[in-house]
Amino acid sequence: KDAIRDNVLRPSRNVPYPSKDGKPIYTSEFFGESVFGLAQIAKALPKPAYAQFLRKMRGGQALDKSTADAIAHAVRIWAMDKGATHFTHWFQPQTGTTAEKHDAFLTLKTTHGQAGLEEVKAIDAFSGSQLLQAEPDASSFPSGGMRTTFEARGYTVWDTTSPMFVQHGPHKTTVLYIPSIFISYNGDALDEKTVLLRSTEQVAKAALAVLALLEPVPHGVPPQTNVVYTTLGTEQEYFLVDRALYVLRPDLKITGRTLIGALPAKHQQMEDHYFGHIPSRVLATMSEAELELYKLGVPVKTRHNEVAPQQFELAPIFEETSLAVDHNLLTMDILSKIAHRNNLKVLFHEKPFKGVNGSGKHCNWSLSTGSGDNLLDPTIKPETNYRFLLFLLATLDAVQRHGGLLRAGIASASNEHRLGANEAPPAIISAFLGEHLTEVLDSIEQSRPVKNFSVPDMRTIKLGGTALDVMVSTLPDISRDLTDRNRTSPFAFTGNKFEFRAVGSKQSPSFPMTLLNAAVASSLQDVAEALRKAAGDKPYPSDADKLKVIRQYIASTKSVRFEGDNYSDDWKKEAAKRGLLNITNCPDAFDQIVEEKNSTMLCKLGIFSKSELASRHYILMERYSKDLLLEANTLRTMLAQTILPAAFEYRAALAASCAQQQQIKLSAGPELKTLNQTTPLVESLQEWIDKLDDAINQVHLAGHDPSAEARASAKHLLPAMEGARVVADELEEIIADKFFPLPKMSEILWF
Ligand code: ADP
Ligand code: MG
Repeated sequence: KDAIRDNVLRPSRNVPYPSKDGKPIYTSEFFGESVFGLAQIAKALPKPAYAQFLRKMRGGQALDKSTADAIAHAVRIWAMDKGATHFTHWFQPQTGTTAEKHDAFLTLKTTHGQAGLEEVKAIDAFSGSQLLQAEPDASSFPSGGMRTTFEARGYTVWDTTSPMFVQHGPHKTTVLYIPSIFISYNGDALDEKTVLLRSTEQVAKAALAVLALLEPVPHGVPPQTNVVYTTLGTEQEYFLVDRALYVLRPDLKITGRTLIGALPAKHQQMEDHYFGHIPSRVLATMSEAELELYKLGVPVKTRHNEVAPQQFELAPIFEETSLAVDHNLLTMDILSKIAHRNNLKVLFHEKPFKGVNGSGKHCNWSLSTGSGDNLLDPTIKPETNYRFLLFLLATLDAVQRHGGLLRAGIASASNEHRLGANEAPPAIISAFLGEHLTEVLDSIEQSRPVKNFSVPDMRTIKLGGTALDVMVSTLPDISRDLTDRNRTSPFAFTGNKFEFRAVGSKQSPSFPMTLLNAAVASSLQDVAEALRKAAGDKPYPSDADKLKVIRQYIASTKSVRFEGDNYSDDWKKEAAKRGLLNITNCPDAFDQIVEEKNSTMLCKLGIFSKSELASRHYILMERYSKDLLLEANTLRTMLAQTILPAAFEYRAALAASCAQQQQIKLSAGPELKTLNQTTPLVESLQEWIDKLDDAINQVHLAGHDPSAEARASAKHLLPAMEGARVVADELEEIIADKFFPLPKMSEILWF
């Protein structure tokens, strides 16, 4: 109760927005001030060296020593002027978060003075080789058998495509961050980023091959039009709860979600939270976090209340995918830190509270040329619609062929609570296009004019007033404003991009994006091949050739398109008929990574090697059972050490009261009634604790194979936890409030 009182009385922190001479400084003026980007590198290097740096950055080649030394020197001075004393390679091991190990700039330099006397001098230094590469003791990161202990070396290598930045910590600690990849001695990817960069390269190559067939690049075109990259905008959902209440809940603290807890009378049914007024403590936290993020060059754009009480969302402006991933991880990190300063705790878990909506991370994804031309933008120019349709269909083809792989990329013990529940996409991966685009594809397939959607009565028009046969070589206008929304689809086209909505709020977007990029790269390669084939002896396919390929793909990708309610049972039946996968548990999803069709594609593209795939599979399985075991053990402890004793105390109080009533010859009926209600529940809870123990044992008995352990966890732990929870929640509703030792959902979810 003290915690609740503290919660109510807490003032908001007042962090003033940057100002100068009493006047506010505009966000655009301090945006990116903590970032050492291309502009700074350009200043540090002679012109030709900078040009070479850019070429090497794009080509993913290693830098030479003198260039690296020059950049290292410039960035050290820049960072030290901002107060930095340390630097760190900042990388993304397969733990879902980031890792860092700080090194001081401070070095001791020994010189031999006169008469051979040694002189030790303290200096600040940072060399090019320190910038380029570090060798942290990496033996304790998950490697899934990639590294044996005697060969435990792992290397972090500067990722030149992502800018360095400084972060200020408490007590003025300031550190220079160097975004890095993390690889083994043999060059195997040990992290999330290496494979993402490989996938970006492959999708770019494949996209350029298709573009080259569509639009021959004329002489003299600036080279940036020869660049394609994928773009990502992450909508990040999260909960904010008071820290005093949070620390009283071992389940939240240890597992990130409430393992027990009855649904309060009021939760989200009034629909009054979504887009509602942002509570002032939350707004204070959000804007303080945004302030930090702006300095770090993270373009945060939107903030709002989400559906569940105390659930919020933040979305940045989209960026090149690997930078957007770095920025999403940074955003999560900064939000946690700032929430802490405001005595709040941010929960990124996909389902922290049963009975109200969970959180996702919608990954808005598209392809862009170097000059910012969005390849999934229908545009209003019909002549570019071939390009649009081919890229759209390649993406559909990727989802169709490798839906299982996409499902694997979003599978985790925590996201499993969302998927298939009535709030998030189901376990079936399909794609939604909207009525208009569906009509466009249908009309092309059937060689008939498209209905004109911009006219309210949707009457059919003849394009350009010409006869039907013109349709064979012309395409209709496609307007992006006409795309509608389907909140139930896991993969929806939303105007000029796809929105992969099944990604979990807690997970790094890196792995799902890697798999999506890979699948699309593979499909684009096939599209290019089909175009070449259609063109025959001609150097470029004609419009009719392109249309032929488009028709072929419209037909072959039809089964992955679904416009209806993805939550319905009918869809499950329909999807089965169409041969789409419906993968309802994590271990089955992880198996998709090593499934023949998927692993062949990934290895052929060079995004993963066979052993890298095997190690991911191993790590995912292992993490899944570790997650579930952690939950089961936490729940067991809470039930045995907190809930059961509370029930005993309450029963003792009731029994004492009964005895008192009887002593003075009064009816103890009412007390007895409640006492009798608790008896079967308490007995049942004790049984469930035993069943939990059994289930935990079953997992340990499954042996040391992570797949077997993961399957045993799904089979035994999930039902045992669910069963125990039902009884604990019933008890919570009977036990007198003053005997109940944990903050309840009704208390945690209201400020
Ligand atoms: P909504 O809630 O309607 O989906 P939001 O504004 O919350 O819209 O989020 C949309 C996200 O999509 C933003 O992060 C935005 O930057 C991103 N986005 C827009 N265009 C693209 C694109 N071409 N590629 C990737 N992401 C994009
Ligand atoms: Mg969205």
